[in-house]
Parts: sequence; structure tokens; C-alpha cells
Amino acid sequence: MTDASRLHEAQRGLGDMSPADFRDAGARVVDQVASYLARLETLPILPPIQPGDIRRQFPSGPPLAPEPIEQILDDYSRLIEPNITHWQHPGFMAYFASVASGPGILGEWLAAGLNSNVMFWRNAPASTEVEEVTVDWLRQLFGLPAVFDGMFTDTASVSSLLAVVAARHAVPGLDARDEGLAGRPELGRLRIYCSTETHSSVEKAAIVAGVGRAGVRRVPVDDDFRMRPELLAEAIREDRAAGWLPFCVVATIGTTSSTSIDPVPAIAAICREERLWLHVDAAYGGAAAVVPEMRPLFEGWELADSIVVNPHKWLFTPFDASLLLFRSPEVFRDAFSLVPEYLRVKREGEAHDYHEYGIQLGRRFRALKLWMLIRYFGADGLAARVREHCRMAQELSGWVDAEPGFERVAPTPFSTVCLRHVPAELAGREEDADAQQKIDALNEAILERVNRSGQIFLSHTRLRGRYTIRVTLGNPRQTMEHVHRCWTLLKEAASSASSG
Ligand SMILES: *Cc1c(COP(=O)(O)O)cnc(C)c1O
Repeated sequence: MTDASRLHEAQRGLGDMSPADFRDAGARVVDQVASYLARLETLPILPPIQPGDIRRQFPSGPPLAPEPIEQILDDYSRLIEPNITHWQHPGFMAYFASVASGPGILGEWLAAGLNSNVMFWRNAPASTEVEEVTVDWLRQLFGLPAVFDGMFTDTASVSSLLAVVAARHAVPGLDARDEGLAGRPELGRLRIYCSTETHSSVEKAAIVAGVGRAGVRRVPVDDDFRMRPELLAEAIREDRAAGWLPFCVVATIGTTSSTSIDPVPAIAAICREERLWLHVDAAYGGAAAVVPEMRPLFEGWELADSIVVNPHKWLFTPFDASLLLFRSPEVFRDAFSLVPEYLRVKREGEAHDYHEYGIQLGRRFRALKLWMLIRYFGADGLAARVREHCRMAQELSGWVDAEPGFERVAPTPFSTVCLRHVPAELAGREEDADAQQKIDALNEAILERVNRSGQIFLSHTRLRGRYTIRVTLGNPRQTMEHVHRCWTLLKEAASSASSG
């Protein structure tokens, strides 16, 4: 029931919340978030609820009358905050990290206050130029040459989609932008190449870009899950002979299952020879390029036509922010620019009109949070944090390697450890399907047991068809204490799963 006497004066009128009310409620929101971040570790990472449990507690229709902000915030504290999966929790080591740092959150709040719509310079002068500045700062932090320009999108899925459409636009004589692809039998069918480990977003891009899933050819990987370039070259030759139209190769630095690194220099050489667009997906791994001594892992990415790195993964940026870098901005502008009369502006110098480079007209001011957090941590501070995550992952790898009954399933180039429990009595039976099924079931049980603890949350994948537990670091609140806890829980779960 709403207590009408608690309504604020402004709620009875036709305007927005008053500045005074905003200040009061805003102070409470700041306090709410600060307390949340301070007591994260007392919360179970996965709330003990079932689908529908939350929804049942909400009225089935919207309120007709205004409600007091205090009551709305009370319900937020009671119903929403405790019932999310806590991505900010330092025990969250599943998927890849996506962690919002303090300065990033503040930047997000300021951007919300401005509500700047970053379509073109006249509509968003400072926001446009802060985007130009931060894109270039990130390029420098990654050690990439000044030929790269870029912009922010919401996710790597969209960044890669834009790259695939630009790659398609760069095919001479195709002109899919104006002519479409259907009903043109004179054209060969388009083909994208990536590895069997490449993220599903590339296949989704193919769906949207009219290439289709049949147009995605997955090249086999070696024992360390890296694309085999000689098989890529062979696939391209075979496809050309059969009338396909190869146009794009996606190489990954830090694949999603195992964080493997494709041999980008060899792939880039093939792309140059075959005149194919090279897109590098470094959505997760790219953050490690801020660590100077890790740059050798990125050899060859400077040869790409486009690169995606997600600051919202491992650069402490609140969701969402994906960085798309490209060598030829004019290809993106030619592929996407449509300027209706009502958006026509006199060109005022050299600033980007960002809406011309992608799908969205209206765009969020994502650069502000990056500008704030890059300044707050500094290049050295960002590098120190990412370096520490990699160091802790190396330490965990060492424990796994040294522990009888455990094995590491893939190399650990970044901050993600892929492991599996193999009890002594089932060891060495690689070809025995029954034994492998038992090991898979054991590891599934181990993962469930660890996740039930509420203190650590891990996810899984399959590598060479085998159930594999992934532990990934990337939260600046994570310390060795959390890594120890994770390892202890894994070992305890393994011994109870094996004996149960
Ligand atoms: C996470 C990830 C993606 C998808 O990222 P979104 O921003 O969620 O679309 C793509 N590629 C790789 C390698 C990833 O790790």
C-alpha cells in the first residue's frame, strides 16, 4: 500500500523529480551501492531462488498512482539487489570477468545525468571528442600503431558484426549494401573462415550479414586449440575452386573456452596473399596488451583490418563497452552511412559523426566511464592489476599440475585455468568411452558442489569433447585468498565426489 503522505511535492505536478528530491534520493543510491560493494563477500554469489520467485513478488500491473521514492528504493533493496547473480563478487570466476570498478560506475552515473546522445558532433561535441580521445588512449595502451581508428559499441557481438559487414563491403563488385545478396546467381557464395574454437558471435554475424551459417567454415585447431594456418590456406584454395567467394578470416587472441591464441602472423600472411579481411577477436584477451611484457602474445594483430577488445570484460568497465578498432574508417562509413535530411549538418571540421560508422543512430556516451577509470588507475595501475590476475592464474596452474588426480586441460596464457579431476583409477584411459563419461560426470558434480558453496562460482566448457572446469580471474577485488579458497573447494569437492 502506498502511503500518499510520503509523496514528494513534485510527484503531484507535471514536471520531473525536483533537484532537492533528486539530491536526497541520489545520496541514498550512492550509499546503497557503496554498501553493496562493501558487503559483497557476505552474499551467496548465486541467490538460492527458482525462476519466477522474484516476479511473483511484483504486482502484475504498473501502479496507477505515484509511489514514494523511499518505498521504491526499499523494494529495490529487498527484492532486487539480493536476488541477482553477483558478477562483482570476487569469488565469481565463471565465464569471463565483467567487473565495474568504482571510477567506472561514477562515469556511468555522470553519463546518465548528461544523457548525451553521441550521434554526431553538433549533438554531442564533448562526448564525441572524449570518445576520440579514449579510443586513441586505448589504442596506445594496447601498443597498436596510430593507423587504427575506432569507436565504442555495446558488445563484441556487435563489433564483430560491424566488422563482417565492412569486410563484405570491401569485396570488389559485390555491393551487397545497395543490391542485397538474394537473387544474384552470378555471385559466388560468401565464405568466412574461423576456427572450431571461435566464439558463436561470428556465426551470428554471418546470420545477420546474409552470409548464413553455411558460409562459415570452421578450420581445425592444433593440440593447443590454435587455428592451423596450413589448413586455412587449403580450405580457401578448395573453396575458390568450388566457386565460393572467400572474404574474411576471424582470428582469436584468447578464445572463450581455453583462451588459446591463434597464430595471427601466419593467418595475416594468408589474408594478405588471398586479399581477405582479417578481423581479430580479442574480446577477453585484448586487455592483457596493456601489460608491456605480454605484448608478444599479440604479435601480428597490428596487421588486422579490424580488432575487437571488450573493456567491459577485463578492464574494469561497467557493462557495456566494446572497443572496435579499424584500419580503414572509410570502409565502415561507406558500408553504413545513410544521412537523412533531418540529420544533415554542415561539416564543422574533422570530428567523427559516429552514427555513420555503424548500425545505431543514437549511441550512449560510453567513453566517459573509460576516460574516468583510465585516469583513475593510470596505465601502470591497469597493467599492474591485469598482471596480478595472470600471476595468480599461473600460481593456480602450478597447484593443479602438482596435484595427483587433477590435470590442466589447456595452456594458461592469460588469467583462465582449464582443469579437470581425473581420479587415479580412471587415469590413462583416454580411449575408453565409459571411463571418460564417468570422469565427465564427476567433474560436473564437482562444479555443482563448488557453486553450491555460494563463495566461488565457476563455469565449464568442453575441450576435445571432455567436460572441463574453467577458473577465470579478472576482478580487482580478487586476491590470493580467493584463489586459495577456490582451490580448497575444488579439492574438497573432488574428494567427496570421488568417494560419493
Ligand atoms: C565474450 C566474448 C565474445 C562476446 O562478447 P559480448 O560482448 O558479450 O558480445 C566474443 N568473443 C570472445 C572471444 C569472447 O570471449
